Amino acid sequence: MKKNYDFIFCGYGLSSSVILFKMSSIDYYLDKKILIIESKKKDINKTWCFWDNNNSKWNPFLSKKWSKLNFKTNNISLDFELNDMSYNMIKSQDFFNIIKKTVKSKMNVEVLYDDVLSIDQQTNTVKINTSNNSFITDKVFNSIPTFSPYNENSNLKMLLQHFKGWTIKTKNKCFDKEKATIMDFSIDQKKETRFFYILPVSSNEALIEFTLFSKKKLNDSEYDKEISNYLFKAGILEYKIISNEKGVIPMTCYDYSKYNSKNLINIGTSGGWTKPSTGYTFKFIDKKSDQLLKFLDKETDFRKFNKKTRFWYYDRIFLDVLYYQNHLGSHLFERLFLKNKIERIFRFLDDESNILDDLKILLSFPKYLFTKTFFKTLFNK
Ligand SMILES: Cc1cc2nc3c(=O)[nH]c(=O)nc-3n(C[C@H](O)[C@H](O)[C@H](O)COP(=O)(O)OP(=O)(O)OC[C@H]3O[C@@H](n4cnc5c(N)ncnc54)[C@H](O)[C@@H]3O)c2cc1C
Repeated sequence: MKKNYDFIFCGYGLSSSVILFKMSSIDYYLDKKILIIESKKKDINKTWCFWDNNNSKWNPFLSKKWSKLNFKTNNISLDFELNDMSYNMIKSQDFFNIIKKTVKSKMNVEVLYDDVLSIDQQTNTVKINTSNNSFITDKVFNSIPTFSPYNENSNLKMLLQHFKGWTIKTKNKCFDKEKATIMDFSIDQKKETRFFYILPVSSNEALIEFTLFSKKKLNDSEYDKEISNYLFKAGILEYKIISNEKGVIPMTCYDYSKYNSKNLINIGTSGGWTKPSTGYTFKFIDKKSDQLLKFLDKETDFRKFNKKTRFWYYDRIFLDVLYYQNHLGSHLFERLFLKNKIERIFRFLDDESNILDDLKILLSFPKYLFTKTFFKTLFNK
């Protein structure tokens, strides 16, 4: 077996694409021999949303941006002007088309459509077995979840963010195309954390997504029923479903980086690059990939990459509260959005707030509940 690649990427989804795209503008990587192995199975279409400054580097990839956001519960409806920021939407197909073309034209890459069956870490190399081949390389970037599994017995609990959305075209003008609804909790919570988000691309077309932060997925028909009820209650009766998307995102502080070795790094959701308390991943992949490329300027041992910050502790407490008191989600998010400026909320959720911001945010939540969970967490490592 020949060691014929400098790097191998297992999976060619979001995190691999972002890292490769960034590598494609760094001279050092242009002549490296790179193999990318992506499953033969057809990947689902995804819609990625994130907030960013108006001059975001991702602007050329956007299919829609909003200057206003709405947050809603049974008690309140809050509209936020985003001023010099926007809430952005990227369609995965558009994104991959641009990135894959750029990477192919600028770098020495080979894409193999095959299933990775195992990744074996050896002393100084990594061996990858696919359905039809084996490869040995110095460095592996893995985004396939199977190879960095969550341990069910961990004290670090896991909730699932699971959702289904319909993109609908309505007969009448039903939506304000300048305003996205980030969370609408004004639905029966059924003792869980349940909300809708609405992403209008025009006055008569929108993605309506039913989302839960809870322990178990629902049957497909339950998501559909909720979406159809929601539209009925909103008075949207004449519409056509033009596409749908569904997904599950793990919400956990579990330390996936413990699966990293000297020569293998888990990236994206498989590397724990998903924000545990929200499931937002796009911005974290962007940030982590910048950090990783900077790290690789000087270091070669991937085990040194990961750093825990104070935000990990905040996420852990918030997740524990939500795990044990899942019915409180609507109330907790209501307090967060009611008591804070949107810019502060964004900074906090991006792990970029200062201590004063953190204090203001933490004081928004019920003190007794969070202090109790803090001490429980402290003694329950
Ligand atoms: C439907 C959906 C919507 C989302 N929306 C948002 C959002 O709005 N905002 C946000 O911040 N985050 C969002 N996320 C979360 C996150 O951004 C995405 O899941 C993102 O795709 C994660 O990137 P990744 O590289 O970790 O994984 P992926 O993009 O899933 O990449 C992994 C790749 O590995 C491949 N693969 C799997 N098994 C094998 C195998 N055995 N062999 C070879 N290849 C394999 C897959 O086909 C895939 O291409 C969403 C997730 C989903 C599922």
